Amino acid sequence: MSQRKIIIEPDPILRKKSELVEKVDQSLKKLLDDMLETMYAAPGIGLAAIQIGIPKRLIVLDVSKEDHKKDPLYLINPEITFTSKKTSIYEEGCLSLPGHFAEIERPAECHLSFIDYEGKKKKLKAHGLLATCIQHEVDHLNGVLFIDYLSKLKKDMIIKKLIKQKKEINKIIL
Ligand code: ZN
Repeated sequence: MSQRKIIIEPDPILRKKSELVEKVDQSLKKLLDDMLETMYAAPGIGLAAIQIGIPKRLIVLDVSKEDHKKDPLYLINPEITFTSKKTSIYEEGCLSLPGHFAEIERPAECHLSFIDYEGKKKKLKAHGLLATCIQHEVDHLNGVLFIDYLSKLKKDMIIKKLIKQKKEINKIIL
């Protein structure tokens, strides 16, 4: 396993629509392992392949509490088949928008069909934190970031700060 570099907004790659995965083979499993390692190291609770620059419909998640055993979830070609009318609000962050958080309202429950790490078709009913994480990560596969749900003013402010943060990082490297 190896850690990959996480792409930070603004970057046109994050706006790309990811492609369906055709088969689950060793190289795909290796990629999923790398994604999980990168996510744990960040640390984060969810990561989409596009966040490491790979436009494939792949997500890794782990919403288990810190004091519990690790419980990774691998989602290949996830498809949300149902969302509830009832909504919930979480303060969301994103590994591609470091240091920025915002309250986002989403459906409180969702149903999902996907392919698992072993290449088997699976279904999942999620609510609470997991439902929010799944929707956040599936958005990534469609080139959508949580800041897209904010007002233009708030969104522009966050992007401006991210550009500034990037420049500061470059200064250190130089
Ligand atoms: Zn994210």
